[in-house]
Amino acid sequence: MAPPDLPIATDAPALVTGATGFVAGWIVKELLAAGVTVHAAVRDPDNPAKVGHLTDMAAQSPGEIKLFKADLLQPGSYAEAMAGCSVVFHTASPFTTTVSDPQTELIDPAVNGTRNVLDEVNRQDSVRRVVLTSSCAAIYTDAADCADAPGGRISEEVWNSTASLDYQPYSLSKTLAERAAWDIAEAQDRWRLVVVNPSLVIGPAIGPNPTSESFNIVRQMADGTMKMGAPRMAFGAVDVRDLAHAHLAAAYLPDAHGRNIVSGHETDLYEMAMLLHDRFGGTCKDLPKRVMPKWLLWLVGPFMANIERRFIARNVGHPWRADTSKAKRDLGATYRPLRDSMEDMFAGIVDSGLISP
Ligand code: NDP
Repeated sequence: MAPPDLPIATDAPALVTGATGFVAGWIVKELLAAGVTVHAAVRDPDNPAKVGHLTDMAAQSPGEIKLFKADLLQPGSYAEAMAGCSVVFHTASPFTTTVSDPQTELIDPAVNGTRNVLDEVNRQDSVRRVVLTSSCAAIYTDAADCADAPGGRISEEVWNSTASLDYQPYSLSKTLAERAAWDIAEAQDRWRLVVVNPSLVIGPAIGPNPTSESFNIVRQMADGTMKMGAPRMAFGAVDVRDLAHAHLAAAYLPDAHGRNIVSGHETDLYEMAMLLHDRFGGTCKDLPKRVMPKWLLWLVGPFMANIERRFIARNVGHPWRADTSKAKRDLGATYRPLRDSMEDMFAGIVDSGLISP
């Protein structure tokens, strides 16, 4: 599906933080295709395994890429990378659910890193627009929260008030980081903050060895974790390519503003897994074939898959509902079929040997 045309200013470079990431890789690709010079801020610019796919993409695109070393936790770290940029895409933030110390592994890099990047924006006169990759996790913690939202659907008006250091700390990290970003943005009027709030991101990896939690979730559909069945654990989902395009719209459409829920589908783990059967069911024997009942997951989940009972109680069997009209209207967001995203993602996971078919 060809994305709609956007008025992209190619005369000034754009900074992408965390350019090695799953989401960022597709943003970089689209910027390069439009002819933009991309300043890619990464932790390890000399490691070809981390950045080789970015330089290869640039070699085949009208745009150019420049790599810069930067770390969210080092004050002033983004100065060189941001010099001369008109747009900053701030995507870098740890996305993992397996942490031993949520404060140092999730909250500090997300929140202090966002402050670090935006303090630098305040020092760099060239920047006019910042696009922050927040998350629907900054809006809700559990699918059951949707029923409590006005009209039974989460929207840009809603903020997450239930995540904590002890329960879903990743969601807390995204909430606190987005709040910190709004505090800094609202204290000035030279640049505009536009926030993108994606639901679960799926679709093909652009680089080798993807670390995003998205891949762990989909990999579990084939590695035997769900061979007894997949739960009706509900969430929204969006293709990474559609999400990248929404980021560019947030950056270059003059009227883009505020928070924007970017989510193409209201789904659950069982439905997503079933979409894989036509193409992969013959070879991948461990794909789930039935629904795992909630009571059974409640019994075995904490031991077999390290899922908390509170999370099971509040996410399995509760529909996920979101008002996604703003991003369609303001960003022109469009969404490809869920089946395409799942098949493309799964094919990449099989090809890379992360699971055996
Ligand atoms: P990835 O793990 O692929 O990307 C995370 C990026 O953050 C990596 O480039 C990583 O760099 C970088 N990063 C982590 N810690 C630091 C640090 N201390 N200093 C500098 N860079 C750091 O995850 P995604 O692409 O999935 O996530 C990208 C963004 O999208 C995140 O903000 C995430 O919260 C958000 N998001 C993701 C969703 C999803 O379902 N995937 C859903 C909603 C939002 P390195 O390669 O060096 O580790």
